[in-house]
Amino acid sequence: MPDHDDNPIPDGVDPDRGLEMKGKEQTMPVQYFSELPLFAGLSVDLRELVGNIEHHAGRRIAVERTEIGKMACDFDRHVAVIQVPDAGPPRVSSVFHELLHLKRYFVDGVPKLRRCGDEHRLDDETTQFECLDSQIEHLFIVPRELARYRNARGYWEVRVGAVLNDPGLADDVALVASEFVHRVLNGGVLSDAAQAQIQRRGLVDACNRFHQAADESKEAATLCLFETFELGREKLPRVCLDYFARPQEVPLASIKGAPVRARG
Ligand SMILES: [Zn+2]
Repeated sequence: MPDHDDNPIPDGVDPDRGLEMKGKEQTMPVQYFSELPLFAGLSVDLRELVGNIEHHAGRRIAVERTEIGKMACDFDRHVAVIQVPDAGPPRVSSVFHELLHLKRYFVDGVPKLRRCGDEHRLDDETTQFECLDSQIEHLFIVPRELARYRNARGYWEVRVGAVLNDPGLADDVALVASEFVHRVLNGGVLSDAAQAQIQRRGLVDACNRFHQAADESKEAATLCLFETFELGREKLPRVCLDYFARPQEVPLASIKGAPVRARG
């Protein structure tokens, strides 16, 4: 697949937008993703993907500009935002990656891990759950990204290599990173580093369980992760799964013995 859908984004937003972003320190006019020149340069299937996400979400994907040189997204049942760096996407695969995050939640009905009843998303544990959710999602999203953009592999090797070499690496993050190396990268240059982390931490059995759970579903993988570690078991009562199409969050602990399969 040629890397042709990467256009720079000009500065400036349309000042005539009537809607405003909530929760911002400054009142900003809303700009929508489908209004960006970047969007016009996307291939037809990606433009259709944007339309499909917006149709299921019942809202348009908004854009936030960011000075950080990487893309990101923010989503829940009230929010669908893609953050775009001022200089444009750092990689052609980045747009596809963020759209896959949104597709999984809004179209495929895959739940987002969050703290139960947490509407305000202000504290450390909320942020930690968001990060963990993103890391688990990458086990499912990045294989699709790499199938389309093979050149993105180098980026992920560097990124996960940095995680595995982090002296403060937590056990649960080591477990997910190791699974990423095996599931997404099929081993490769990080295979030894991942293996060393798992063996040094006595996580070989946990690694096998997590691998099987990830084969089953995101829900099973998430539950496995929290049940494996003492700190996770302590946090488990506060963890919920937020399904876009369901009116209520589902406590993660309640899916025990009755794995909830993602629809679609
Ligand atoms: Zn991501």
